[in-house]
Order: sequence, then C-alpha cells, then structure tokens
Amino acid sequence: MKILVDTHVHTLASGHAYSTLNDYIEEAKIKGLEMFALTDHGIRMPGGPDLYHFYNQIVIPREVGGIKILRGIEANMIDFEGSLDGEDRLLDQLDLVIGSVHPICLPGGGKREYTKGAIAMMASGKIQVLGHPGNAQAPVEIEEVVRAAREYQVAIEINNSSFLTPSRRGSEENCARFCELGHKHGVPFVVSSDAHVRYDLGVFDGALALIDQQGVDESLIVNTNAEKFIEFLKRKGKLKNDFNTGI
Ligand SMILES: [Zn+2]
Ligand SMILES: [Zn+2]
Repeated sequence: MKILVDTHVHTLASGHAYSTLNDYIEEAKIKGLEMFALTDHGIRMPGGPDLYHFYNQIVIPREVGGIKILRGIEANMIDFEGSLDGEDRLLDQLDLVIGSVHPICLPGGGKREYTKGAIAMMASGKIQVLGHPGNAQAPVEIEEVVRAAREYQVAIEINNSSFLTPSRRGSEENCARFCELGHKHGVPFVVSSDAHVRYDLGVFDGALALIDQQGVDESLIVNTNAEKFIEFLKRKGKLKNDFNTGI
C-alpha cells in the first residue's frame, strides 16, 4: 500500500522540530509524495507558536513544485470536555485540524477522562483527525472511541512516530486494537509520520506494518492519495474553494 499524503508534519515553529516548509517540499519531491499538511503544535505546547502563526498560513501557496500543501494545526485538548487551544474562527479557517492529547498540556487524566475528552472533541465537529489515540501515556477506552469516530466520521490516526518516540512508549498494542476495531466498524483512518525533521516525512513503515497485520481495508484509509484526502476534507466541510476535484 502506498500513502502519498502525509497528514501530520511539524516545522521549526513547533519549537522542538528541526525543518522548514521548504525542507519538507524538497523532501516530498524526493519521496514522491503528492501532498502534506503543516500541523504545528497548538499554542499550549511549551515552545509552540502563537495563534497568528496559524492564521497567517493563508500566505502559503496551495502548491509548490507539484507538491500540494495543507494549512493545519495539531491542536491540544486542554480539558476533559474536549476543548481545544485554538479559537473557533481559526479552526474553521484551517484546512485540517488534528485534535490530540499531550499529557504535558493536560496532565492528571485517567482512562475515563481521556475517553470523555476524545469523544467530546469528535462530537464538536471541530476536528477531522483524532491524533495518536493509541498513545499508552494517555489511554482511552478504545471501542467507545472507535464507535464515536464512526458516528462523527472523524479519522483515527495511525501515527508512525508512536512506535519510535519515547514519549509514546508502549503504544503498539493500543494501535493494533484501534486497527482491529476500526476495521470492524468501518471508520476512516489516516496514516501519518508526525515528522519533526524532514527525513521522517513520508516514513510510515511501522504504521503500515500494523495496518497490514490487522488487515485494515485500504478503502478506509483516506490519505492514500491527494484526491481521496481532499474528498474526505470536503465531506467534512473543508477546502470549500480550493483544490478542485470536480466534487
Ligand atoms: Zn502529538
Ligand atoms: Zn505531532
């Protein structure tokens, strides 16, 4: 299976990432990607950018050197009611909002609280992707979250960095369960790198191995190519006037 859209990428603006927009464009050409999404961390992440960084993404061209670019954010869940660290006007404007739990931004939760928050984020209609929900450091009730993802048609992210970064140690088992139950219930999935340096862009090997092992149907993965991902975002009310695909 080929994944030609990387839906989760951090630039220097995230404060603990090491590549620029231009680096990622060059890397996307090398790797043969069609598209990637800029999803820097929301403002509550220590060292993260402020809101103006996200508003001003309108200056970024839609396409450079044949590579399509989405303007997004990896927003932080900031309470157990599923609130995000971006105002509604901003989240509406962006092409892609990933909603993620980072324990550094929201400590003190247990499984019940993280589950409640994740479902509330999806129910709010403000996110299109639930970021790394398999994170063992912020565990959720997987079947409840999968059922909600199906109801609200929010994509479950299988994040390649979850198998690499020490901050999400122990995520494999949860991610496998998300694959298994997500396939069973027919939820949308995205596969992402969560790159913090250009060399990780388009690297999905751990995520794809798990998807293969769990037999997730390729038709459920909405970012296998740019056209399919654009269609998914348009169905979610995004990209109203951009990326004409005849829909
Ligand atoms: Zn994250
Ligand atoms: Zn991230």
